Amino acid sequence: MPNYEFFCTRCKQPFTSQMHVKEHDERVAECPICHRTKDVEKRISQVNVMTSKKS
Ligand SMILES: [Zn+2]
Repeated sequence: MPNYEFFCTRCKQPFTSQMHVKEHDERVAECPICHRTKDVEKRISQVNVMTSKKS
């Protein structure tokens, strides 16, 4: 399962959570601090897109 990045706007803390691709499409993870999903935003991880710089 891939690791996804999230950000809780209530706690102002980023966190990561493992979930299926389909799950990620449908919902967000629960914040490990406040245990809410309402204030959690998805963060697009740019692992594969980060440095596409050609020299
Ligand atoms: Zn939170």
